[in-house]
Amino acid sequence: MLPKIVVLLLIVYILYLLFFKKILKQGHKENDNGTKSSDEEFIECKKCSTFISTNEAIKSGNNYFCSKECLGGKK
Ligand SMILES: [Zn+2]
Repeated sequence: MLPKIVVLLLIVYILYLLFFKKILKQGHKENDNGTKSSDEEFIECKKCSTFISTNEAIKSGNNYFCSKECLGGKK
């Protein structure tokens, strides 16, 4: 049988690792979002007025479209 203190330390150690990983992930995420949001803009689809990010939008001249369907003007 393991002494209770060893089990306790093990649990604390695992919790510490999980917590530490979470912080690392969060920090990384913030950095990603920071760089992403700086050049990401939301615009309206010329055809159906859906708001989409410029990264996903299809640009045609000065107009933006949410999908190829809207770009083509077909139903
Ligand atoms: Zn559209």
